[in-house]
Amino acid sequence: MKQTIDALPLTKAIADVLTALGVKADNPAYSTGLTWGGQEGRTRKEIFSPADGNFIAAVTMATAEDYDLVVKQAQEAFKVWRKMPAPKRGEIVRQIGNKLREHKEALGKLVSYEMGKILQEGLGEVQEMIDICDFAVGLSRQLHGLTMHSERPEHRMYEQYHPLGIVGVISAFNFPVAVWSWNAMLAAVCGDVVLWKPSEKTPLTAIACQHILREVLLENELPEGVFNLVIGDAEIGSLMAHDTRIPLVSATGSTRMGKKVGEAVGARLGKSLLELGGNNAIIITEHADIEMALRAVVFGAVGTCGQRCTSTRRLIVHEQVYDQVKERLLKIYPSLPIGHPLSDTTLVGPLIDKDAVQAFQAALEAVQQEGGKVLIGGEVLSGDAYATGTYVKPAIVEAQNDYHMVQEETFAPILYLIRYTGDVENAIELQNGVRQGLSSAIFSTNLLQTEAFLSHWGSDCGIANVNIGTSGAEIGGAFGGEKETGGGRESGSDAWKVYMRRQTNTINFGKQLPLAQGIKFDIMD
Ligand code: NAD
Repeated sequence: MKQTIDALPLTKAIADVLTALGVKADNPAYSTGLTWGGQEGRTRKEIFSPADGNFIAAVTMATAEDYDLVVKQAQEAFKVWRKMPAPKRGEIVRQIGNKLREHKEALGKLVSYEMGKILQEGLGEVQEMIDICDFAVGLSRQLHGLTMHSERPEHRMYEQYHPLGIVGVISAFNFPVAVWSWNAMLAAVCGDVVLWKPSEKTPLTAIACQHILREVLLENELPEGVFNLVIGDAEIGSLMAHDTRIPLVSATGSTRMGKKVGEAVGARLGKSLLELGGNNAIIITEHADIEMALRAVVFGAVGTCGQRCTSTRRLIVHEQVYDQVKERLLKIYPSLPIGHPLSDTTLVGPLIDKDAVQAFQAALEAVQQEGGKVLIGGEVLSGDAYATGTYVKPAIVEAQNDYHMVQEETFAPILYLIRYTGDVENAIELQNGVRQGLSSAIFSTNLLQTEAFLSHWGSDCGIANVNIGTSGAEIGGAFGGEKETGGGRESGSDAWKVYMRRQTNTINFGKQLPLAQGIKFDIMD
């Protein structure tokens, strides 16, 4: 079913981007791959850019019936896809990577315009998709299990990995495409089909990706239902969490959402992969290269306007260098260029919406009531260039680690400056003293300190970096965090194993039937 897109008061450049990505005539509620959903009797949602407030496009939200149709189509596609040899599936992913290379500029721009991250980061996000495609292509020839020696004579034992079926991917607004691709490309080479519910705040980039992938599937005469898209809100996400037809739900977002999804999937004994909120700290010891540390701190704290799961939220600084670090930060922050994310000179773009701005202000208000001291920032910018009301000045607050607000993840550019005294173990205790456990970092040139940080009594996070900040992970490592961050791992290393079921096979090539553990069970006849 074709639809006409609403009249778009877009700049020509963005209109061209949408056209180049295929987001033009059809503007679907869902794509089973086989059918583009219509809009009759369904809710429409208008998407405005957080950068300039312009209306980009309206999308149609899927109903429960739409969702059901998509799941059925995905089930059918799985029957075909799982029979294709893994390296052949890798070949399809290779072609997807190439298509993404062709569209990198346009897709990066759309990511930036729809989500508000600066263009460099929008392009970086698409590059991350390309990188994971390359990784998955190699992986498609390495989905191997172990062989073991059997305790029984003339027996052989080994394990193999089989696809699961439909992998449900629920994604967050701040990485509108990269995190889905981490899941989707690995799942695809593993032989799974994918059902994606992107954030309702950033559906257009998802529709663009769906167009790109669909082209590749059509060119290869494959069922389009290998990659599926449903545009919807939390209710569709909840349907996925409860749906026994979806053996694995990979959900990225807030801890609040993860608890609901984890509970629903757990209740039906399904598998979940949860990538939730972080409360990441950088430790600066008295032995740090301060200038190097500052670059990482500023990128981590204000990059993506503080809206990365790995954003630096706490800076734990040794008393000997505390004043020096504070002084330097207070010099750097006023010169940060805040502005339109598509402008070359901007380093800090807008927050996603006015709700996020309110949460930013409320957190600053609350932390001050607890005794926190705002050293700089916190204002909402006004004037023509900032008319959306979504631009804020990143804030630095002197605080204590045990303040209620410091213990929470506020998804905005607030950096809590915390002083520590004595040994590095005191700093590590502070850094671990929160409920979340995603990313952590230490800046020190002292081997004893950095090794203590990496030891098993060191950082309790999924990611622990030395002389590198908390954000900006590479796809080659497993990504994820502990505690309330959810415990999931995705992307590199052996994260692929979660997208498959492990089967142990024992083969008897002898003429007897010996039992394990030497059990005797002779049938008399
Ligand atoms: P969010 O939790 O509001 O929404 C994330 C997704 O979950 C959306 O698609 C939303 O529709 C869906 N959802 C919400 N409630 C649901 C429910 N009850 N059942 C099923 N689905 C539901 O998060 P957000 O504001 O989009 O993203 C910001 C959060 O995501 C931050 O907490 C950030 O730290 C986290 N995040 C974590 C990672 C990671 O890898 N750990 C990566 C990116 C973002």
